[in-house]
Amino acid sequence: MSYSRGGRRRFGRRSSSKKNTTGREGRLKRYTNSAQAVVAELPEVKIEHQFTDFALDDRLQKNIAQRGYEEPTPIQDQAIPELLAGKDVVGIANTGTGKTAAFLLPFIDKVLQDSDQGVLILAPTRELALQIRDEFVEFAKDLPIGVSVCIGGTSMDRQIKQLAQNPHFVIATPGRLIDLLKRRHFDPEMFTNIVLDEVDRMLDIGFRQDILFLISKLPRKRHAAFFSATSDSATDEIMRKLMDKPVKISVKQAETSHHVEQKALPVKIGQDKVEMLHDILIQGDVEKAIIFGRTKHGINKLERKLKERGFKVIAIHGNKSQGARQRALRTFKDGHVQALLATDVAARGIDIDDVSHVINYDEPQSYADYVHRIGRTGRAGKVGTAITFVE
Ligand code: AMP
Repeated sequence: MSYSRGGRRRFGRRSSSKKNTTGREGRLKRYTNSAQAVVAELPEVKIEHQFTDFALDDRLQKNIAQRGYEEPTPIQDQAIPELLAGKDVVGIANTGTGKTAAFLLPFIDKVLQDSDQGVLILAPTRELALQIRDEFVEFAKDLPIGVSVCIGGTSMDRQIKQLAQNPHFVIATPGRLIDLLKRRHFDPEMFTNIVLDEVDRMLDIGFRQDILFLISKLPRKRHAAFFSATSDSATDEIMRKLMDKPVKISVKQAETSHHVEQKALPVKIGQDKVEMLHDILIQGDVEKAIIFGRTKHGINKLERKLKERGFKVIAIHGNKSQGARQRALRTFKDGHVQALLATDVAARGIDIDDVSHVINYDEPQSYADYVHRIGRTGRAGKVGTAITFVE
């Protein structure tokens, strides 16, 4: 897309989450419990609006309908009117709640009203940035809105060319964006609208300084949205720096976890985990599994060992090039391999249907990570299985 904003470039104006501390017995129990232990039973959330109730541009309404969205999700129901009213919003919500559309729709609408508006969306990982882009493309179909995705692992030249065209939306990961900013290809002054997505994960990855740096470069008067699956002092710090008196919306994700049957497998001293995994993978019902490991190195080793045993698997992690990661995801999505091997960071936000099993080959670092991992299965009303090896 080559649409750009009316405004002229103005360069030169200004140049951890909690760790697992529970004992082995406690963890075995925790990962075995039925779904209600993962997320407390939540009251039914009443949806107040239909999409047609929102004061969104007709063209956008048409694209929403074409996308097949019939009713807003709770986060959309609550966040869209606030953002449309120009308020800052903090959403405590994770992937699967529909948070992407909750921020994309009002900001696309804002750009349609005023083509000088610029919207910056920051995401922790390349995959999440690309997923946001994909969703953006659907909603912005046939609309005069330009976008540039600025992420690592792909050609910077192309991004520089896109930025030179003044896109309305920039969807970026912090590292690459700072690179582009320092080389003066990205002008933060142009972006009075900002979305920080999955802030807790950005902090987990170690982007605290980068985010604070980027916020310090943004225009003082800004319209912001902030999303995080969890809220603690670290996320609060970023929130306070970014915005003043935001509207807070909390949509704890219950749905996915409710459909996940969870089992814990104790690993005895000296027991071969690959052997245990082998036994699981040959069970007929393990059709499409995501296997989580702690480190890139461990994932690579496991990939090799499983391939030696004749399993069709593919690994995805931060050391691979963007192209390789996208290919791996596609191969898994299309069902050409039985399992995707991933680290937490690489798997963040991945939205793949029909994952039958999540296998925690290495235990997650925190309970929040556990919930994120198992949320990859049991989606869209299906029942999934989560198996956790406990050493
Ligand atoms: P997200 O939490 O934004 O990653 O969205 C999770 C999934 O739900 C994505 O596949 C979206 O396309 C889908 N989705 C989001 N909002 C709606 C909606 N109102 N109706 C149906 N599907 C939706």
